[in-house]
Amino acid sequence: MAKIIVIGSTNTDMVVRSARIPVPGETVTGGTFLLNPGGKGANQAVACARLGGDTIFVAKVGDDAFGRETGPRLAKDGIDARLLTDPSAASGVALILVDAEGRNCISVAPGANATLVPGDLAPMRGEIEQAAAVVMQLETPVETVAWAAKTAHGAGVTVVLNPAPAAELPADLYPCLDWITPNETEAKLLTGVDVTDEATAQAAAAVFHGRGVKGVVITLGAKGAFWSVGGAHGIVPACQVKAVDTVAAGDTFNGAFAVALTEGSSVEDAVKFAVKASAIAVTRPGAQASVPHRSEVV
Ligand code: ADP
Repeated sequence: MAKIIVIGSTNTDMVVRSARIPVPGETVTGGTFLLNPGGKGANQAVACARLGGDTIFVAKVGDDAFGRETGPRLAKDGIDARLLTDPSAASGVALILVDAEGRNCISVAPGANATLVPGDLAPMRGEIEQAAAVVMQLETPVETVAWAAKTAHGAGVTVVLNPAPAAELPADLYPCLDWITPNETEAKLLTGVDVTDEATAQAAAAVFHGRGVKGVVITLGAKGAFWSVGGAHGIVPACQVKAVDTVAAGDTFNGAFAVALTEGSSVEDAVKFAVKASAIAVTRPGAQASVPHRSEVV
């Protein structure tokens, strides 16, 4: 089976829940601690693997405990994790404080994620050129994303970019994208169009198409997802579920979408599959912990 290659970030989310978030200089005690594996790249790799994709994950970690546990953990999901080590950086970490009302305060140290350079991927050129799809996000340097997109596109490999968190992209990257998959906020930041309904989603998609992107999917949270390709477009409504935690909803969506596309599904069917998978993710707490397995998506 041809591989899905996910290139991106891996982070460890360290979450302390307590009565309230301290102000500068203050210590609040009595909280509870949770350690959650995260990072958009790793989350999307987990989604691809659990949903049936033969998955390679490429990322950079530090020479530390978090970096060392990442590979064996991802291997348990059947992921072929190609983790490069940057001895001069820490592994990516997010410190998250949550108060009794569920409000949070997050500080991210990207560490080794920020030092993944095109030269790190060069030895994988052959594998990238033979992949079924390359899936990326923007928590790693954009020049690395651009290099991989150009390499894959040049070989006719499907390129999916989830532009999260939104950042300005070089003009010559857009024509290398088979699919761009922003959420509403990212779509607005990248196109200037305030996406609120099907007509505005279509207008934002037109901006992306005008820049050379072949297919556009805009995820609309509890409203579902909009797709546009080859002059056709549509909306797949979200499944009605009781959402408890929307972390990794988008990551699950992207992994599912990539798997369905590489299995030869039509765009609409791929979006339907992704909508179903991400609806399950929002009913569970956590990032990677919430990603469903294929057998659950019916
Ligand atoms: P992100 O997590 O990247 O911000 P969205 O919030 O748009 O992305 O969510 C991604 C997908 O997850 C949506 O397209 C939708 O299918 C699903 N989803 C998100 N929130 C809900 C919800 N409350 N109920 C059902 N599905 C949801």
